[in-house]
This record gives sequence, C-alpha cells and structure tokens, in this order.
Amino acid sequence: MKKHIVVQKYGGSSVANIDRIKTVAKRIVDSKTTNNHLVVVVSALGDTTDELEEMAFSITKTPPEREMDMLMSTGEQISCALLAMAIKTMGRDAISLTGQQVGIQTDKAHTRARIHTICGQRIRKALSKNQIVIVAGFQGVSLEQEITTLGRGGSDLTAVALAQALKAKVCEIYTDVKGIYTTDPRIVKQARKIKTITFDEMMEMASLGAQVMQARSIEVAKKFNIPIHVRSSFSKEEGTMIVKNKEKLEEIAVRGVTRNKSEAKITICAVPDQPGIAAKIFSAVSQTGANVDIIVQNISHTRHTDISFTVLKKDIHKALTAAKKIAEKIKAGDVLHEDDIARVSIVGSGMRSHTGIAALMFQTLAKNKINIDMISTSEISISCIISSEQSDKAVQVLHKAFNLDKIK
Ligand code: ADP
Ligand code: ASP
Ligand code: MG
Repeated sequence: MKKHIVVQKYGGSSVANIDRIKTVAKRIVDSKTTNNHLVVVVSALGDTTDELEEMAFSITKTPPEREMDMLMSTGEQISCALLAMAIKTMGRDAISLTGQQVGIQTDKAHTRARIHTICGQRIRKALSKNQIVIVAGFQGVSLEQEITTLGRGGSDLTAVALAQALKAKVCEIYTDVKGIYTTDPRIVKQARKIKTITFDEMMEMASLGAQVMQARSIEVAKKFNIPIHVRSSFSKEEGTMIVKNKEKLEEIAVRGVTRNKSEAKITICAVPDQPGIAAKIFSAVSQTGANVDIIVQNISHTRHTDISFTVLKKDIHKALTAAKKIAEKIKAGDVLHEDDIARVSIVGSGMRSHTGIAALMFQTLAKNKINIDMISTSEISISCIISSEQSDKAVQVLHKAFNLDKIK
C-alpha cells in the first residue's frame, strides 16, 4: 500500500528546552503509523534566533547579510539534530537534514530569500527506508551554494513549501497557542479560537502583525491550495483550518484584530508643493532598499505640504538618512521621526459587503481617547496608526466593539 506523507512543523516555543524536545519527539513517534511517512520541520530552540541576531548587532549596526545567514541558520541545525536524537532514543529511526541537504534552492537575497525549487530526493530516499525526516526550517541554499534564510518566521514557509513539493496529504503547524484567534490572546484574554479562516484573511492578518503564521507561507499555501491545520503542540485539541473557502455563504464583517509595532514614521515638513517632488522623495528612499508603507500628504494652502510615511523600524536608519538628504536638495523643512507608533487593524472578507465598519472603528477609538495619526485601507482591512502606548487598549476595545469575544 502507498503511504501518504504528513508534514508537521514545530515552532521555537514548542522546542524551547530539552523537556519540550522530548515531548515533541514523543508526539511525533505517536503520530507515525504504518500508513504514513513523516516529514517534520523544526524552528530554532526558544528565542535562539533573536539571541543570535542580538549578538550580531552588538558587533556592528550593519552586519553583512551573508554572514547573518551563516549565523541565523545555525539555530535550526541545533534543534533538528537534537530532535532526531530524541526520536531515535524512543526506538524510531530518524534523520536530521539541513535546507541545503534537502535541496531547498533559493535566490540569493540573503535574510529574505525566496524558494525557487525543492529537490527533495534525499527526503524521499530517507522515507523509503521508513525514517522520520527532520528538516531544519527557515533555510535554503542559493545556486552559488551560499546558505540563505527565508525571513523571520520562515519555518512556516519551509513546511508549506515541503508539503507542496512532496504532495503531502496533511500540513500541520504546531505552536504555543491552540490555533488562530480573533486577536493575539496575549493582548486580549477573551480572544476566541477561529475554526476556519480563508487564505486571504489569514494572509492579511499575518501581514498586519498576527505573528502566528508567516505571511509568505500563506501566500504559497493559497497559490497551491494547501490547507493548513494550525494547532497546539501541548494539546490534542483540533486547531484552526486555513482553507480556500469557508462553508458559510455569508461572511462576517470582521474576523480579527491585529497589532503591529514594527513600523516607524518619518515626516518631511514644508515640502514645496510642485509636480515631481513626491517622486523624488520616494525614489531616494526606495533606493536604500527600505520599504515604504503608509503615505500621508497633507493638503497645502501655502504651496508647502508635510509628507509623512512609515517604514520598517529596522530600515529607519537608512530611510532617515535618505530623507534628510533629499529634503535639503528640494529645499524642504525639518525631517522628524517617531518610533513609538503601532498599527492597529481590523480584518475580514465580509467588509466588502458590510457598511459602517470604518465608522465603528473610528468611533470606538475616539470614545477611548485614542488619537488616529494615519489611516490605510485594503479591500479586506482597515488600519490606523496610533501611539504604541495606547495600542493594547485599542486592540481590546476594538475586539469588544466588533463582538469578537462572542463568536462561535
Ligand atoms: P512559533 O514559535 O510556534 O512559530 P510564534 O511565536 O511565531 O510561534 O507565533 C505564536 C504566537 O503568535 C502566539 O504565542 C501568539 O501570542 C501570537 N499571535 C499573534 N496574533 C495571534 C492570533 N491572531 N492568533 C493566535 N496567535 C497569535
Ligand atoms: N527561527 C526563525 C525565526 O525565529 C524561523 C522560525 O522560527 O520560523 O524567525
Ligand atoms: Mg513563528
């Protein structure tokens, strides 16, 4: 009989220490049957990746990206070897493999590489010997044989990409919460677990700050229609299914609330109000590699205008330098920056057909004396930039205002 392939991924908190590694090993051994093959992707132990990153930044503010990948990829190499050992001591055969050994071929964009192909031959060979294959997540190799990493949270992407390449029957993401919630359960105690969510909604929530899944992994899952089961590594309970379409005909307006503190704001004051000026500013900023997100330009009554925009905090240094240079060139005024901002967003496919959603969001923030600095919308989300200090409160009041604590 042909066996089916199951891909499982265990996140950093699920393998944070030796006891947890043993618990995960037991769970893997228990899920191995005579009918299946197991391919397990694992993240680095606990906060290892953050710690490695900190070490690099304590040496230099601008670590070379190639060396960053050499460094960051070591975390997953440790966890996959330890997990394979733990499984072997339980009497099951297992083998750990790095991204390179598995043949995860990427482009050469260090620290944010994209997967081109997965060879998978080595995995198939190990599976044919009935070995449990443990793959180091978050890493690949370029055509030039350089080690690359897939962006933070990239082990999710490794899992989804392997599920596609191996035509797996099941793709399970094991983490430290019981599934996808209406908002981060660390911010709102009453957050509810969602039974099913669409790829589109999950992608929007992930890119707006719901850390639980990497946005790029959902992009791949959507492209190849790979359903994902997100569940707890500490309990047997069913988690959340991320799927193409939900069975319900009518969508509820708001499915979740997210918060993201990864952006900072730059304002260029007194910009001359002439054609071509915005093009000059944003060409200069984008040439640094910084990704500009929300842009607000105030109406001009004086032939001068203030332009504000957000970039990722990690890019603020280069974006600010470029903004100051171009401001001088175009004879604008001061360049200000603010780090203590947060983006609070509401997400839901049903927004397309419901009215009054934005109004309720703004009223709720106003009632709670939370000032809105910038606003941005997409077809299925509305985001407000507010002060970081007020963002916990904002998430809590929005969660309640949209009755997310009551969904079944
Ligand atoms: P892992 O180490 O398993 O990859 P992460 O830390 O990357 O796990 O993601 C899990 C965390 O994501 C949870 O502990 C939770 O606090 C956070 N999170 C943020 N938003 C959500 C949400 N909407 N649903 C579930 N978890 C969320
Ligand atoms: N260890 C990597 C990170 O912390 C990849 C992952 O955990 O998914 O971002
Ligand atoms: Mg993660």
